[in-house]
Amino acid sequence: MKPAFKIAPAFFLGLLFFCLRSITAYGAKPVVAVIDPGHGGENLGAEYNGYTEKDMTMIVAEAMKEELEKYEGIEVYLTREGDRDMKLEERAEFAASKNADFLFCLHFNMSLSHELFGSEVWVSAFGAEHQAGYAFASAEMKLLEDTGLYPRGIKTRLNDKGEDYYGIIRHSTAKGIPSVIIEHCHLDQGRDVSFYNSKEKLEQFGILDATAAAQYFGLKSEILGVDYSGYHKEEIPLPNAAVKPDTSEPDVCVIDVSHVDEETGEITVSVYAADYDSYILYYSYSLDGGESFSGLHEWEPRNADMLQFTVQAPSGTVPDLVVNVYNKYDYITQSNHVRLPSIIYGEEEKDEGETGTVLQEEDAVEAGSMTAKNPSAVKQEEEGGKTARGEEEGEKSGQRATVLYFLQVALLCASILFVLLLMAGLLIGRRPSKKKRRRKK
Ligand SMILES: [Zn+2]
Repeated sequence: MKPAFKIAPAFFLGLLFFCLRSITAYGAKPVVAVIDPGHGGENLGAEYNGYTEKDMTMIVAEAMKEELEKYEGIEVYLTREGDRDMKLEERAEFAASKNADFLFCLHFNMSLSHELFGSEVWVSAFGAEHQAGYAFASAEMKLLEDTGLYPRGIKTRLNDKGEDYYGIIRHSTAKGIPSVIIEHCHLDQGRDVSFYNSKEKLEQFGILDATAAAQYFGLKSEILGVDYSGYHKEEIPLPNAAVKPDTSEPDVCVIDVSHVDEETGEITVSVYAADYDSYILYYSYSLDGGESFSGLHEWEPRNADMLQFTVQAPSGTVPDLVVNVYNKYDYITQSNHVRLPSIIYGEEEKDEGETGTVLQEEDAVEAGSMTAKNPSAVKQEEEGGKTARGEEEGEKSGQRATVLYFLQVALLCASILFVLLLMAGLLIGRRPSKKKRRRKK
């Protein structure tokens, strides 16, 4: 028993020393970040107004790498150096070959309608990769939102087989590497243009991405004078099944007109909307029963179930209001219609007179192009970069309305004259017949 007592302290001391050494060795091991500038070579990615996604992602990636290297305890690699394309699987394999702790895929967005705006981050729908992706994406979205970009959310997407839809996320997750696709903003929407339209601004995105990564890894930088070792990461529970995306339209969209200002033609509309699977992201409205819609507006505050907005109906039109609401996955639900009696205000009120009602019907038909006269509609056109065209159309329809007005007045005068002549003719024609009847008697 005596030898055992002698051995025990030595054994425990040795074990303690070994543990301490392993802990410090682990602490000193740098984290490995792999940055993937999306597209490259023949694969241009999105193209808009002279901007090409593959070039933009490279500028962002290089700035992100440079910034991340200012932190201690990190190794940074780019999947592609220079302008060449790589298969998605190859990019994930590269990350695996470097023992990456995280793969950051950098992209820019575009939509078919050219209406969507804002930033989004795609993450894996599965397990620890979902959890890690979500934690990084939360930090990233917060920083993007702080710059003024509209947050479209952190999302998952599945293919028909129920796997992650995006190849790069699917391949990385299969290799146990957390990954994200950062869609910084939309190239084809006026509201986002000012965020990417210079090299400096693209580099700012890179610095922002690096900051989010440093926060996620809890890094310190002496050069930058920042310490994220105490950064509180967004922690969500480990999902035990696929985190499914929302694949249905918003559940509720009902509108109501709360007020009509007869002086200015301003209509106050209340929209009640909800999406039980995700949330409402945008709304747009129509004054002509859904023929033409305004641009998209932010649904804010994000979790509100009711929102009010005012819109000015062009004088003399018969507004037929409809609202569209979009959810996190851009599915749309249209509201009920609210038809209002015609609103006449301003200058046109004075010289309308009897022809007023006829003119209103004519204008109601024209309402589609007439909305361009409405100040808020012009503002939205401006956001989409189409101001000049919108105003031109407004002017043309204004001229058309004046011509129509004169034609109607002329037509009315002609009909009055015709009726007068007819009556005169009848009076003249009746006299001899009366005489004839008397003669018969
Ligand atoms: Zn892309």
